[in-house]
Amino acid sequence: MRLYSDEAFILEVGDLSDADRFVAFMTRERGTQRGAASGAKRRFSRYAGQFQPLAKVKVTWAEKEGRELVRLRSVELLRPAQKLLEDLEGILLACYLAELVLVFAPDSEENEVIFRLLDSTVVSLLAGADRNLAGRYFEVWMLRLAGIFPIPRECPECGGSLEAGAVLPPSADHLVCGRCGSGAGGMKVDSGVIDLLIKIHRTSLAELALIEHDPNQLARLERLAGAVRRAFLQHELKSYEVMQRTLG
Ligand SMILES: [Zn+2]
Repeated sequence: MRLYSDEAFILEVGDLSDADRFVAFMTRERGTQRGAASGAKRRFSRYAGQFQPLAKVKVTWAEKEGRELVRLRSVELLRPAQKLLEDLEGILLACYLAELVLVFAPDSEENEVIFRLLDSTVVSLLAGADRNLAGRYFEVWMLRLAGIFPIPRECPECGGSLEAGAVLPPSADHLVCGRCGSGAGGMKVDSGVIDLLIKIHRTSLAELALIEHDPNQLARLERLAGAVRRAFLQHELKSYEVMQRTLG
């Protein structure tokens, strides 16, 4: 048996048995982990209040070979996400960001880039950044870190510019120019969305959040990122469906 300790973000909490909870968390050095917290459902559990989605914690856990779940030994709250979780919209967004990490970050493999992306996104949200912008920023970056949906600098088919607008061909994970994408029934992407995509790749969320963004443009980017994500995963994320259904 080996013991580990690392900074982490709580991603998902569920029931495992009458007394125990299931906890998924993203660590700085050992990727995502899925574990069991013994006694966490008891009334006076030592874990009380520490398993909020996107809370930053210090976790100590034990790994045993051949066991699917690690065993949590201790959890220390470093930064609560309470301010984000005060209303339904914030809770739904937190669950969506957490599911993106669970789906796109590889299990147990170091991925400090995703850890830092999550960290800076939560910090911006706690500082009051536009949640819509933060959601778009995070989903676009997660796609790129998963190796799909590259920065739309030029058309990968003809090398032409995408500045004036582009097309997402059906079931594709990248944009092409209007000429290469004509006639295939793809999704048209206007120059404003292209510009926003490039800014997302070049600028930090904290900086982008200082500027006001057109909600219609953010909605168009959300549709585009959603189409790329669904084409890649072949399904929609549960938390995204819940968010759409609840908020309309
Ligand atoms: Zn082209």
